[in-house]
Amino acid sequence: MTRTISFSELSTFLACTQRWSYAYEDRLQARTDAEPLLLGSIVHAGLAAGLRYYALCDRYRQRAKERLAQVTVERACNVWATGYLAEREMWDEEREVVRAKTDTGFRIALRALNWLQPERWETLWLGRVPLIEAALVAPLEFSRGLKLVVDWVARDRIDGTTWIFDHKTVRSFQDEHAAQLLQLPLYQHALSVLGMRVDGTATLQVLDRLPAVPEVTKKGTVSRANITTDWPTYRQAILDAGGDPSDYADVRTRLSSAEFFRLQRTYRPARQAEEVWNQILVPVAWLISSGRVVRIRSRSYQCSYCAYRALCDAHLSEDDAAWVQQAHYRKRKR
Ligand code: SF4
Repeated sequence: MTRTISFSELSTFLACTQRWSYAYEDRLQARTDAEPLLLGSIVHAGLAAGLRYYALCDRYRQRAKERLAQVTVERACNVWATGYLAEREMWDEEREVVRAKTDTGFRIALRALNWLQPERWETLWLGRVPLIEAALVAPLEFSRGLKLVVDWVARDRIDGTTWIFDHKTVRSFQDEHAAQLLQLPLYQHALSVLGMRVDGTATLQVLDRLPAVPEVTKKGTVSRANITTDWPTYRQAILDAGGDPSDYADVRTRLSSAEFFRLQRTYRPARQAEEVWNQILVPVAWLISSGRVVRIRSRSYQCSYCAYRALCDAHLSEDDAAWVQQAHYRKRKR
């Protein structure tokens, strides 16, 4: 194969070889592209910018300043949103929604950055590149390499362990994130091929909302209704209403377990990551390079959210598949 392969291509191939063929052989994409997940992308951009700020301060032995980190995160979120808006025609109301989400995304990203305690971590560098949203290519047989973008690689200054991070903005926390099964082991081995050993992979789940501000009742007390919030936010609401936080010890106890961020680390021996690479990625790279891929329509639950469903259905019926292709899909640029 004279090109690189990405994790996205691998997972498409494993899900359905017909879908892979539409996407990577025919290079078709739906004319109405799926919108990027707005809030998640803003949080991602803001968090990466904040981490980069701390990494650069570390590198050049400058004392990091929280206020500057905040400005950096905010700017990155605004730049992302400006690019997003510039590429789309939108009504004023829709633009307002994007701006509101940008502000929320900035606040969430900043809270996530502070929750991580950035000075606890030392970002690793590959040459002159800090490994934050870093695009890399790792040598892979039968292709020009595995193309990957790592969210963050950092060493924990407390215990000396090193981790590849995956950042996710989520509606609710998941015990095991899908990325832990295939993507992160592959990235772990890819880093090892590039000369960097890590102890395992870490998933940072960030809840997609800010702590809610409790209501003030007609009596002037703060509502004890069960809302998704944390103690600092609740305490501020008590002070704003002229109350005494010590009167709300029960709420404080309840909110002590409130969770807006979750970091799960998975220690993984290098050998195990290598086996995932050898047993899953290498055979797929070989199959693609051999030109012997059998395109089989999976006709499974995958179909319900497949962008090629209309075309696939047309091929399976008497419909005019050529017309469907021309009307609903375009060729992706190389
Ligand atoms: S609709 Fe289903 S069978 Fe057809 S390409 Fe998509 S996933 Fe595969």
